[in-house]
Amino acid sequence: NEGTGTWPQRRARLSSGKTAITFRGRATTYRELDDRVTRLAHALRSLGVGRGDRVALLSTNHPAYLETLFASGLIGAIFVPLNARLTAPEVDYVMRDSGAAVLVHSRELGEIARSAAGDAARVVLDGPGPDAPGYEELITAADPSRIDEPVSHDDPCFIMYTSGTTGRPKGVVLTHGNIVFSVMNAVIDLDLDSHETALVCAPLFHTAALDVVALPTLLKGGNVVIEEGFEPGRILRVLERERITYTFGVPTMFDALSTHPDWETTDLSAIRRVIVAAAPVPPRTLRTYTERGIKICQGYGLTETGPGALILTPDEVERKLGTAGVPHFFTDVRIVDADGREVAPGERGEIQICGPNVMLGYWNRPDATADTFTDGRWLRSGDIGVADADGFVAVVDRLKDLIISGGENIYPAEVEAAILEMPGVAGCAVFGVPHEKWGEVGCAAVALEDGHELDHARLVEFLAPRLAKYKIPRSLLVIDEIPRNSTGKIRKDLLRRRFA
Ligand code: AMP
Ligand code: MG
Ligand code: MG
Repeated sequence: NEGTGTWPQRRARLSSGKTAITFRGRATTYRELDDRVTRLAHALRSLGVGRGDRVALLSTNHPAYLETLFASGLIGAIFVPLNARLTAPEVDYVMRDSGAAVLVHSRELGEIARSAAGDAARVVLDGPGPDAPGYEELITAADPSRIDEPVSHDDPCFIMYTSGTTGRPKGVVLTHGNIVFSVMNAVIDLDLDSHETALVCAPLFHTAALDVVALPTLLKGGNVVIEEGFEPGRILRVLERERITYTFGVPTMFDALSTHPDWETTDLSAIRRVIVAAAPVPPRTLRTYTERGIKICQGYGLTETGPGALILTPDEVERKLGTAGVPHFFTDVRIVDADGREVAPGERGEIQICGPNVMLGYWNRPDATADTFTDGRWLRSGDIGVADADGFVAVVDRLKDLIISGGENIYPAEVEAAILEMPGVAGCAVFGVPHEKWGEVGCAAVALEDGHELDHARLVEFLAPRLAKYKIPRSLLVIDEIPRNSTGKIRKDLLRRRFA
């Protein structure tokens, strides 16, 4: 088995007594992690999970993310983490699209899990539930013997859902080989070692927390501290108390820490570097950290690239501040014009990515996969970058219709489709506007049929059961007609100007 599922047993051979994971004040050693993962793999099998089957997880941050990923990998099954912020119909869509056989979920999200599980067997964290077995109970009762299942680098490891310009979420399939190379990229370029105490405070249902923080740290034999949520005052205390050496966050998280009253008095001297990515990074955020002597490395990537594509390494943080650095060690990046020709330094072009960390494709979506790749294996990012003479790339704009709010992606097409379901709506357009705290927030422009009225409160009320909270537009502009160009494309630039 050359998959990631064997990492706990390989690590247990080398550093069995070291702490692998700390959660809610409890430490789990590598020996214990190995034992728990092996038992969980047997338990999944006894629930009917076989090679290639999908195992979904719905929870806030919890060690079960890592254990379920490893256990699925041990038996050749595919892990499907679900965004814990989604509504029941959104989770239901992903459960159906992935065809998951098992849904592991927290008690807290039990109602959504029950309504979206379909035929999937449910397992309850901190359980047992009234109608489903408990996760701990299943692990304790399971067979502890070694599992020998052949798994290769080409086998899918997990599917992470991301929305798209068409509105429906697509599953990004990352193979074990993709994960190995993503993790190696992080280990090499961020110079991670066995003494790391890494903090996971970004959601584990996104690739960065898994592939950039948790998995590289576990590969090296370090300690992963998992926080369930992001409360800035609490995170500052954890950074100091646990002597955290490494973490990842989106710009909004780093701003929340540095503007908290305890920022000045918190001892952050153990930090060796932090990564900031997932959205445009304001220069003031970078300066606040570098002025305090903290190496804040800007990264850039996509779920589709596992996620890392570009990284500003700790050595270059001061010299190349504001750029997202250079391609990761095993990855290639090019910047091309509309005809696919590479542009000169200083010129804008689309960022395209190629390498062993780049996804296999979208789950059951050969057309979407084909559209995303060009010239063979170059992934079109839909982002605009500019390289300097030394090859350091600044991410300057976006070609695709996407809003990034507090690190979460909002695809206007998905929100527009939901708004068009509203009685009396003749047309609508959703667009992003700048926001001090969240980077961007969504705004909706709606044209109504004669005799209909709409206000923001009613829009929110209609969308709340359908869309995750972060996707719901923050403001509403009622207009006579949606402006379009001669080819019928909505003029969001005009709407944005009108909003301002
Ligand atoms: P996701 O699928 O959530 O990984 O979103 C990927 C998108 O996030 C990219 O295509 C970019 O638009 C955006 N993104 C990620 N990192 C950066 C960055 N450092 N600067 C600007 N945008 C970024
Ligand atoms: Mg995406
Ligand atoms: Mg993202």
